[in-house]
Amino acid sequence: MKLGDSLSSIKGIGEKTEKRYEEMDIHTVGDLLACYPRSYEMYGDIMPIGQCPINERIVIEGFVEGKPVRRKGRRSSYLTCTVKDATGRLELFWFHMPYLEKMLKIGNRYLFLGKVNITKSGKKCMSQPQILKPEDYYNQKNKLIPVYRVVSGLSSRQMQKHIEQALDDVEDLDDYLNASERKRLDVPALAKSVRTIHFPDDKENVSLARKRLVFDELFLFLSEMKKIKESKGKGEKGLLFQSYEKEMDAFVASLPFSLTNGQKKVYEEILADCTKGNTPMNRLIQGDVGSGNTVLAGLALYLAVNYGYQGAIMAPTEVLAKQHYETLCQWMEPYGIKVELLTGSMTAAKKRNACQRIASGESQIIVGTNALIQEKVSYHCLGMIVTDEQHRFGVRQRENLVEKGKKDGLTPHVLVMSATPIPRTLALILYGDLSISVLKERPADRLPIKNCVVGQAYRATAYQFIEKEIKSGHQAYVICPMVEESDSMDVENVVGYRDMLVEKMPEEITVTCLYGSMKAEEKNRIMEQFSNGDIDILVSTTVVEVGINVPNATVMLIENAEHFGLAQLHQLRGRVGRGSAQSYCIFMSGNNSKKTMERLEVLGMSNDGFYIAQQDLRLRGPGDFFGIRQSGDLDFSLADIYQDAPVIELAEGFLEEMPKEQLEKRIRSSSYLSSQFHPIRSNVTL
Ligand code: ADP
Ligand code: MG
Repeated sequence: MKLGDSLSSIKGIGEKTEKRYEEMDIHTVGDLLACYPRSYEMYGDIMPIGQCPINERIVIEGFVEGKPVRRKGRRSSYLTCTVKDATGRLELFWFHMPYLEKMLKIGNRYLFLGKVNITKSGKKCMSQPQILKPEDYYNQKNKLIPVYRVVSGLSSRQMQKHIEQALDDVEDLDDYLNASERKRLDVPALAKSVRTIHFPDDKENVSLARKRLVFDELFLFLSEMKKIKESKGKGEKGLLFQSYEKEMDAFVASLPFSLTNGQKKVYEEILADCTKGNTPMNRLIQGDVGSGNTVLAGLALYLAVNYGYQGAIMAPTEVLAKQHYETLCQWMEPYGIKVELLTGSMTAAKKRNACQRIASGESQIIVGTNALIQEKVSYHCLGMIVTDEQHRFGVRQRENLVEKGKKDGLTPHVLVMSATPIPRTLALILYGDLSISVLKERPADRLPIKNCVVGQAYRATAYQFIEKEIKSGHQAYVICPMVEESDSMDVENVVGYRDMLVEKMPEEITVTCLYGSMKAEEKNRIMEQFSNGDIDILVSTTVVEVGINVPNATVMLIENAEHFGLAQLHQLRGRVGRGSAQSYCIFMSGNNSKKTMERLEVLGMSNDGFYIAQQDLRLRGPGDFFGIRQSGDLDFSLADIYQDAPVIELAEGFLEEMPKEQLEKRIRSSSYLSSQFHPIRSNVTL
């Protein structure tokens, strides 16, 4: 069997299963092997029901006491049944699993794996427990078990079996590193690493296997970056803008605030890039969240318009694009500048009209999602390109927009904005060809966010506090717990949480929820309502993380904060504290261990994203990476730019010493590596 073969060549995978894998974008044997576990878990000892801890994944063993019953919930029906052991009783719940009704037999004994929670009425229950076969439990007890991100209809266990089958039969899992290179880099062989990551024996070996696969992923990414850098060529010519001092000063004076010193400094840098020398600007603004980089985009775009060119800004989500559009309209319309919005969810007719205005040059500033780089969009004369939250895009996507702007041998200026704070040395490697500006300072009228890290016992107080803030005219975010099993559960959680909160809060408080898999129009609508103040509490998954700006929101409650990396929590928290009112962030932890609390306390001590990222690394030793990523937004499949910083340097060093003509050959010598090479699909983003 070859890596490129279709999944149906694996024993046990039929048409139906193949379809499920397709939903996960897994099409070949190679894709399957490269779908690494999201985390590992370990079955502990069986817990007596009477002594179950809350909110920890545990195994219980009990008799089914009564016939399982199906009940109707608000949104969907669920199945419930009571189990008991010598120490107590526990109610179990399952959504979307009606077939269990026939499977669970009264009087039989089963093993259940899941978390115990307290219901609204104060009763203990376990929701969505997994039923373990006794032989599986005893065989795997105290061993690492991989947990995969699967779609419904597939289980982690099944996936591991398919992978095992594939590993046994695949013939071309060739390494591109020879033994002496592996020794020097201190990484195991490729085939061994792939096996170990899926079939872990001990933590140390998994760590090594992971290091090897992270190395490969980063090596691929960096070689791709290098190619882009080289193809961009040295002789590229840029537009030579004038500085339009009078116009720019008037524009700055018309803004609703005065620029911070940090903003002024970065603006000077942008101006210098565009008005001196004749190479195009290629600048990255690394702005800590809330430091106000949007206005710098506005200034750059306005500069281009003054020079008679168009400017475009690309954002990773529709919601953010829409928000930028509104902000820019406010700033630009007094000058008679035509701002255009282009996103995927617009009707075909609207898109067509927008495209016409873009092509004719009638639209001067164009705001959009990656719709901006679609084939049918052509620009009249693009002089300035801004990408916001660059870490959410592929490098290729940015380059595509640049390509569209090339005209008469001139390349447009490029401004890249990212709110992921990374140390300078790393930024230099990862962003290769870009000059870097750092924006740390926050506007002077901001009060620092007040933070607290608390346990579940504090929840009632937190709700009271939220209620109080809302009564004084503000709004709140609740970030819902991340969900283990599958993305469809994610929805259930947010929706369920919203329903629960509706009941807890007084009637006049409006609560709405938002999650990633909602339709774009719906997300836009909800965000708009939230921005207008029509919604008081927004219960959301981490989709709000990217760039949303609702200055009237002053409280954020983050449930199960321990599941997130500190850098990501810092980003999330950045959604409050964006106006002049005092803001608050409550980090609620589902486990009160000293280590967890110590880690979360870092957020209470500092509002500096750069410092926080560093501390997260310090507090989590090597090998402490199972499950949590520091930053949720860099789309590598395994690598995390923070904790894998040393591997980034290792890969960079190795790449640098490899003769150029060998590079391509090397990558091709391993079908495994090259099968992961999808520069166009851009699975590597930065
Ligand atoms: P981020 O850097 O997180 O993307 P934004 O650019 O969205 O931040 O700005 C956050 C908020 O701060 C916006 O409401 C914006 O209008 C406001 N803002 C930006 N610069 C200033 C400033 N110099 N003084 C006061 N408010 C500012
Ligand atoms: Mg922003």
